[in-house]
Formats: sequence, structure tokens, C-alpha cells
Amino acid sequence: MGSVIPSEDELTAALIDLKTNNPQCGIAKIHALLLISFPTWLVSEKRTRKILQLHGLVLNASPPSSSTPQEQSEEVVIAADGSTSFIPYQYPSSRVIKNLDLQKWTLKVRVKYFDKKKGKGLVAMEKISKGEVIWKEDPFILAPEWEIYDLQHQSAACGFCSTPFATASPLITSCPGSSSSSAAPCPIKFCSRLCLARSKKHHTLLCPSQNPACVPLLKFARDTQWMALHALSQCTSRILLANQIDDSTLNSDWQVVKGLAELGMEERFQQSYEGHHGAEPDRVAWQKAHTLFVQAFSEPPNPADQKKLTKLLKKPLREDLKSDLFNYKSFLRGLGRMSLNLEAHGGLYVLHSHLNHSCSPNVSVRHLEQKTMLARITVIAKQDIQPGEELTVTYVNPSGSVTSRQIELESWAFGKCKCPRCVQELKELAEKRKADGEAEAAAGAALDDLERELKAGLGLA
Ligand SMILES: [Zn+2]
Ligand SMILES: [Zn+2]
Ligand SMILES: [Zn+2]
Repeated sequence: MGSVIPSEDELTAALIDLKTNNPQCGIAKIHALLLISFPTWLVSEKRTRKILQLHGLVLNASPPSSSTPQEQSEEVVIAADGSTSFIPYQYPSSRVIKNLDLQKWTLKVRVKYFDKKKGKGLVAMEKISKGEVIWKEDPFILAPEWEIYDLQHQSAACGFCSTPFATASPLITSCPGSSSSSAAPCPIKFCSRLCLARSKKHHTLLCPSQNPACVPLLKFARDTQWMALHALSQCTSRILLANQIDDSTLNSDWQVVKGLAELGMEERFQQSYEGHHGAEPDRVAWQKAHTLFVQAFSEPPNPADQKKLTKLLKKPLREDLKSDLFNYKSFLRGLGRMSLNLEAHGGLYVLHSHLNHSCSPNVSVRHLEQKTMLARITVIAKQDIQPGEELTVTYVNPSGSVTSRQIELESWAFGKCKCPRCVQELKELAEKRKADGEAEAAAGAALDDLERELKAGLGLA
């Protein structure tokens, strides 16, 4: 058996894959697993260690991704002498979420890291049959469509799961901030005490009664129909409240956010991004939104509001997280992350956000529980899926032509789609163009012949 030295990309993909599926293993064990999985590869343990450390996959490594702000928009390059430099990347990147407990959703899939450009995805662990439910998932945060948002604010849909209230049920519960003694009573109601309890993860800081400083921000998002801004507000509220619970809640929530595919607003702007989740306003609006965002969650201009916010956020936020949430560049990056990852109905789903695009997807996402849990998604196999096969959804209108699909996908800055359907259709298109070109050339040659004959007939040639 001949030995080969794998390229940096091949090795990185294999190591991240192994580490994701064996999170408890240290460097030596992962290295041993690597040599078993790829018996022809020649790799030193030192090289394995370096790559695992570079990707923040081992303890005592270079700082983990969550505490290195630059890493979000730049790629770290370690030179032979050990010095580091950063190069900007242009594709949406996504990193593997450490210690993600997949089993709470399904045993049928696992996370696979493909390569730097493609990032992570989901592959089948076993054969999945057409029509089978692969998993159900509740959102990490929800920024529902505006009609539903308005229903929530008219006390006509649940403030947590977004299910519209069909009848006056005795289970419907009001937000504690709804009392009329408050200056700005909260209109939000919940299906049940369970939805109320679960809403405590993010509603508290978005409640007009408990945190009045958030009102101008939410109003601005609603007026401009800026779904990514609303989603980022929900997400930020969740992170800040997680910090009040304990470090492990904060760290696991923050890992989720950092694991989302991301691309900064400026990068998307350069790639002529057009909003897929409502309008994406211009730079002036970004700055205004940022000001309102900081006022809502960190520095309310009004002392009375500041006092209320301080009471909700007793435990101070780590400095690195503070800048990761509130500085302008991070804020724009956060908006980009929301836009890229929101499901069509405005929810952000941890496992669902791992799904990559294909123009002939093999899974579909449905909201089946419209009467009880509207925000819950059910992921269903559209066709038989073989073990090892990647699960995909479509980010574009799949009935469009190959050209229109490619243009639509490029506006997300994902680059050219290379799914099997696009490869096939682009090949056919090229062949057709070539055939058309040949037909045209043949017609041109016939005309040349005719011209020559005519000229000869007239005695000109
Ligand atoms: Zn509910
Ligand atoms: Zn409330
Ligand atoms: Zn395609």
C-alpha cells in the first residue's frame, strides 16, 4: 500500500469530522483514529495537534473561537515561524459547534465538516426512507413574519411559539409585565404556562414593561420590516439573559450563535446582496439601528430605563463578549448571520441551520403543528437517502432555470452552485450553445459559399 501526504484541506476536514464525532477524545486518540480511518496517510501527531489547535478543537489551544473577535471575519494563518496573520475571506463561513448534543433531535444524522469553503453540513447515519420524519425542532430564537408579530402584539398569538389563539382558552397566560400599574403594559400573551416559562429565555429584555429601552429598537425594526434586526434583538436578548443564568448556559448559547454561517453586511453589500427576508436598508439605517441596539441592551439614554435594565442584568458581561455583541462591526456581522440562517418563517434553528443548499434537495421543512406549536419545524425526507449521503434543502426557487438559480444563489454570496443538477444543466446549456454556435457557423459558411458563387457568377472573383 503506497503512502500519501494529505493536503491541509483534506487533513483539516478529516480531523474536524473525527473530533466532532468523538468530542471526548484528546489529541493522541484523534490522531490514532485518523491513522485507522485513513491507513494510507502519512501524518505526524505534531501536524494533527497543530490543526486541531488552529481550529480551536482542543483545550489549551490557541484561544477558542468565541474569544477572538478577528476570527469571525478573517482566517487565521500560522506561518512556519509560528507567527500569525489574518486574511479576509469572502464566502460565508460556518464552524462546527463544539459539544452540540445532536441526540436530543435525532440519531439519524451527524455533523460533517467538508472543507473551508463549504463548511459544515449534515449527513445520514443510516438509510432514511422517503416521507420519513428525520427530526422536529423548536427555534433557538424566533422573529416571525410581520403578520404573526402583529398578532402577538395584539395579544392574539402566543409570544413564544407564535401559534395564533383560536379560542379563548383558560390556559392563556399574560406576561408578568402586563399589569396596568406599569407605564407601558406588555401586550404579550402565551398559550400556556409552559410557553410563558420558556419565553423567559428572551422575552424579558424585549418586554416594554420590564425593559422600556427596547421599545424604540423594536419599533424601528417593525417600521422598516427589518427581520434580521428583529432576529438579532431576540438573539442578543437570549445571550444577555443566558449570562444571568450561569456560565455553561452562556457558553453553549454563544457557541450556537458563533457556529452560524456568517458574512458581514459590507461583504454582502459588495456582492450586491438583496434582502431575502424583507428589505435590507442602507448604511445610514445600519448606524441608526446600531445606536438603538446599544441603547436597548446596554446604555439606555434615560436614567429610569437604565435602572430597570441594570436590575435585569445584575451580572456584568465578559469584556470580550461585550465587544463581540456591541461594537459596530460585530453588530453588522450579527445582522448578516441572521439573514443567512433564518428559516423562511423567521426562526433560527440550530440543527436546521447546518443544512446546505442543493437545487434538487432531498429534505423538506414543514410547520406541521400549526394549531399547537406553529414555530416547531418537522424535517422530512423527500426521497430515500443513503447512509453517508448529505442532507440538503434549497435556498432558492427550485423551479427556476439554472441561470436564474445561479444568480439567486450568488446574491447570498455562496458562489456558484455546484449541485449535481446544476452541473448537469450547465453542461447541457454549454452543449446547446456550442450546437447553436456550430449551426450558426455552418449557416455563415453556406452564406460565404453563396457570396463566392455570386461573385464568381458576376465575374468579380
Ligand atoms: Zn405558545
Ligand atoms: Zn412582556
Ligand atoms: Zn444547483
